[in-house]
Amino acid sequence: MGKKLVILGGAESGVGAAVLGLKKGYEVFVSDNGTIKDRYKPLYQRFNIEFEEGGHTEAKLFEADLIVKSPGIPEKAGIIKKLRDKGKTIISEIEFASRYTNAKIIAITGSNGKSTCTSLTYHILKRAGFKVGLAGNIGQSFALQVALEKFDYYVVEVSSFQLDDIGSSFKPHIAILLNITPDHLDRYEYKFENYVASKFKIIQNQDKNDHFIYCADDHVVSEVLRTNEIAAQTYAFGLEHQPEYVAYTEEDQLIIHHKTEFKMSINELALVGKHNVYNSMAAGIAARIYDIRKEVIRESLSDFQSLDHRLEFVAKVGGVEYINDSKATNVNSTWYALESMTKPVIWIVGGVDKGNDYEILKAIVQKKVKAIVCLGENNLRIHEAFSRYVDILVNTMSAEDAVQAAHNLADKGDVVLLSPACASFDLFENYEDRGNQFKASVRAL
Ligand code: ADP
Repeated sequence: MGKKLVILGGAESGVGAAVLGLKKGYEVFVSDNGTIKDRYKPLYQRFNIEFEEGGHTEAKLFEADLIVKSPGIPEKAGIIKKLRDKGKTIISEIEFASRYTNAKIIAITGSNGKSTCTSLTYHILKRAGFKVGLAGNIGQSFALQVALEKFDYYVVEVSSFQLDDIGSSFKPHIAILLNITPDHLDRYEYKFENYVASKFKIIQNQDKNDHFIYCADDHVVSEVLRTNEIAAQTYAFGLEHQPEYVAYTEEDQLIIHHKTEFKMSINELALVGKHNVYNSMAAGIAARIYDIRKEVIRESLSDFQSLDHRLEFVAKVGGVEYINDSKATNVNSTWYALESMTKPVIWIVGGVDKGNDYEILKAIVQKKVKAIVCLGENNLRIHEAFSRYVDILVNTMSAEDAVQAAHNLADKGDVVLLSPACASFDLFENYEDRGNQFKASVRAL
């Protein structure tokens, strides 16, 4: 009989790990406390994977030789405590998958920008003809692809939750760290330093043959690097030229100095905003490390199709532009959205506030925002933070009402920006649902 692999959480990463486990000779059992979404069921059937949902049969879990845990399950969950007490080894899906592939891994993390930078990097590598998979939170899980595909490279989006439970196998050939701002602190005992440490696990197993690309403009990142030895070769990027920077901007040019010089106008970049200059630099450096031709990089950075719900242009109605940035669920990403606006903004904001510090938004709101449309059940903190800076604040409880209110407030030449800085769970299923309802309401105007 094979060794027993128990997988906790039966969604994307769980089912992927299950398929890989089966292929590698494990006896696999998947256990999910909630319900497993219907879209995963065909995979369970196809591979005849044994599973349970709606609770854990503890006795069965205690028999495990190895446990792979979904990133969604917090360390403080009762079942995890019990398994730890029994001395069980618990790893994340990216760690498990890494044990079974020799492909080169380009891993991308940060508090914001992971999906964008991951897709952008994948887009360049694919265009350059690499046999490459796109894995992690976007696309299929890394484990599933290791089980079913034969890629030479994987561009993997990794969250801090995935990094929390890595061991010695997850060793990216290129690691990218975009930024670190407070987020998800409920999972880190409300200690920012724990969250920072988790992000830095991305380089934990790297050696001198590996590469580490990071944003040197991020103070948290630079501070850690100032006081720690890094085994990998390092590549700093930032907006303003510093001697040690490999990528920077100069007079509207994005410049990458690695082996040779790469230059392109930031006006040619497909993605707008400073944050996307960072994302483009990070992806561009990775591409230069692999000697991808400059022409290919230039084309890829200029024709990349932006992801839905991230500064996504929806429509122009009566001379007013509508932009959907529903994915902005914290103040930092909203700051970048507002920063990239060049017209007076009607700002749709609100939802579930995860303990936002609105201080960093005040100056930019005062400068750019002409009216605020709150979209949430409780908007008190938004009023408290901004009523001194913006004359008009209205409350709404649905995407349709928010769009209608914004439409009434906007003049020709303005922009209506949905960039909520909050989670969506009070009024919507998730950020996609919020963005989709916003788009539908705009199109119905
Ligand atoms: P993640 O996958 O890390 O959540 P996304 O690429 O989905 O990141 O972007 C999330 C939000 O953050 C979007 O609103 C986007 O406009 C903004 N954003 C994207 N890149 C960055 C960046 N480098 N720094 C700050 N904000 C960013």
